[in-house]
Amino acid sequence: MNFTLKSSAIQAEVAKLRFRTKAFINGKFSPSASGKTYASINPANGTTIANIAACDETDINRAVAVARKAFEDGRWSQMKPGDRKTVMLKFVELLEANAMEIALLDSIDAGKPIYDCVNIDIPDAIHCIHWHAELIDKLYERVAPCGPDTVAMIVREPIGVVGMILPWNFPAQMMAWKIGPALAAGNSLVIKPAKQTSLSALFIAELATVAGIPDGVLNVVPGAGSVLGPALCRHMDVDMVAFTGSTSVGRDLLRYSADSNLKRIILELGGKNPQVVLSDADIDNVVPHAMNSAFWNMGENCSSGSRLIVHRSVKNELLKKLIKYTATWPLGDPLNPKTRVGPLIEPSHMATVLNYIEIGKKEGGKLVLGGKQVRQRSGGNFVELTIFDEVKKSMTIAKEEIFGPVLAVIPVDSDEEAVAVANETNYGLAASLHTRDMNKAHRYARAIRAGVVSVNSFSEGDLTTPFGGFKESGFFGRDKSSYAHEQYSELKTIWMQLG
Ligand code: NAP
Ligand code: MG
Repeated sequence: MNFTLKSSAIQAEVAKLRFRTKAFINGKFSPSASGKTYASINPANGTTIANIAACDETDINRAVAVARKAFEDGRWSQMKPGDRKTVMLKFVELLEANAMEIALLDSIDAGKPIYDCVNIDIPDAIHCIHWHAELIDKLYERVAPCGPDTVAMIVREPIGVVGMILPWNFPAQMMAWKIGPALAAGNSLVIKPAKQTSLSALFIAELATVAGIPDGVLNVVPGAGSVLGPALCRHMDVDMVAFTGSTSVGRDLLRYSADSNLKRIILELGGKNPQVVLSDADIDNVVPHAMNSAFWNMGENCSSGSRLIVHRSVKNELLKKLIKYTATWPLGDPLNPKTRVGPLIEPSHMATVLNYIEIGKKEGGKLVLGGKQVRQRSGGNFVELTIFDEVKKSMTIAKEEIFGPVLAVIPVDSDEEAVAVANETNYGLAASLHTRDMNKAHRYARAIRAGVVSVNSFSEGDLTTPFGGFKESGFFGRDKSSYAHEQYSELKTIWMQLG
């Protein structure tokens, strides 16, 4: 992507943006059945970007019906794998050609720094779809060892109509993590993006159709989750729902499934992720990783390392260097290419984060950085990067997912205590572990109960590795890698008795 653009050039590109605001059903944009709309707000200044179709159950039913028809007549589900791959590679080409536009849409809709959208989110999203497209004609099925009188084939088939419910923190990227493997496996999709961030999803759906993904295969229905979620997840003709979002809504989805057709549900949920720093860690190496882990995407990140569990002997050195490092991430207008910290998604979420900061102070955490709302005159929801020292594991800010730029530093006195504190949570999404001792690294990486443990880094690994959570951070789901691809298919046995 061309990222030599200056701020003024970026503003000019934003002025040229065209917004897709209607539901995308059966290859066409159409208004919501009720004709209602809602405003999508720019979190950096509080202005309305566009009015989006506020869909309801009628629109979901229409989208599911066309997705079902597309699935049953085989226009995508029965297409030869090589041909499906060709269409998806064309889709990838179009995404690449429009990458800057998608990056700008996510930046203004979600308040994400354009720096991140251009360098991380959108390249990662496109790579994900590319990777799954390439996998389509490289997966072989199996024949079971049953002797000469039978042929027992174990094959994989697409699941059918798959609903997808997306969060607002990585709009295009979370969509790609789901549509890449699900389309590659031959399913038909009905996607509900987060209410705050539907613009990139609607544009990506249009590009999919231009690329030749048949009508009815990829539908996007924007609107409120409280209305569309139950309609989609209780629908008897939806075979699976893939969800990324909060643990509380995840629980609702399991109920909707149990009350309807036992559709497959996969859940990618919240986290209260530990960063464990042992006494022998290379502190200069820890600092940039701790920074990314705690504050990347304003801490609005499911795998954010919001608990820094650090051996007391190195805590002061680490904290001093980390605080110094925070000054290298400018907070400001997300469209300024130098900005690394943008606004929070909306005023109500900012209020929640500020309330957690107050609770942290009341419960005895020692505020050593930030703690306040800033740039009020911009009309945006900006909160300073915030660090509490001397946090006890029993405090609220050590236990609950804040989903904002608030880091809790929890000092410990031994390696064993560090690992024990890391595991004292109902969540289990991601963790990082810093030590120079490879024996400890191996042993403790196994001991930490999380779906991803990164050693001497903050990373979810690349697309070749699965991503998903233990405990209340997830339910069966894994995004990325061939494991993601598999979960969008059903396993079938075909047993043939020979005469
Ligand atoms: P959220 O409130 O759970 O919303 C996620 C999605 O669910 C949105 O599209 C929302 O629609 C929809 N929804 C709301 N109520 C629903 C219902 N009753 N039935 C079905 N769907 C419903 O979460 P969020 O605030 O957008 O995202 C933050 C959470 O997501 C955090 O907990 C974070 O940790 C988690 N997350 C996890 C991962 C991961 O991979 N594990 C990645 C990113 C985020 P509306 O937008 O219309 O409300
Ligand atoms: Mg918005």
